[in-house]
Amino acid sequence: MTLKEYQKKRKFKKTPEPKGEIGKTGFSRFVVHKHQARNLHFDFRLELDSVLKSWAVPKGVPEEAGVKRLAVQTEDHPIEYIDFEGVIPEGQYGAGKVEVWDKGDFKLLPREKNHLEFELSGKKLKGVYILVQTKTGNNNKNWLIFRKVEK
Ligand code: MN
Repeated sequence: MTLKEYQKKRKFKKTPEPKGEIGKTGFSRFVVHKHQARNLHFDFRLELDSVLKSWAVPKGVPEEAGVKRLAVQTEDHPIEYIDFEGVIPEGQYGAGKVEVWDKGDFKLLPREKNHLEFELSGKKLKGVYILVQTKTGNNNKNWLIFRKVEK
């Protein structure tokens, strides 16, 4: 795990975002950031492997079961980013306002390289969710996120 890509994209003298480091906290938390960048999108982040695994979800994480949304994997973020809110200045990577839309804990269920299943306990998002890579292969950043239909 590395934050190289995260740190390379940002100038920490200019952005209020944390530089961060890799570190275990013993928690299993998630956050959804609402990011008013050039295009409004939501960033879904799971605390896993000592970083925040991150996906940009253009249409947001669905609250209702069965609705599948595209989730494009982005660079790992430092864990302290979980509390980040602020405005990334014009001209900087990801310029725009970042707010926490939802956060909470999750319980990891079966995990494979291309398939993650977890139960979210947020204020808005609750229930078992699946993140699945659309095609296998390391260069494919496209995943789908959806709430599992409960039987
Ligand atoms: Mn974003």
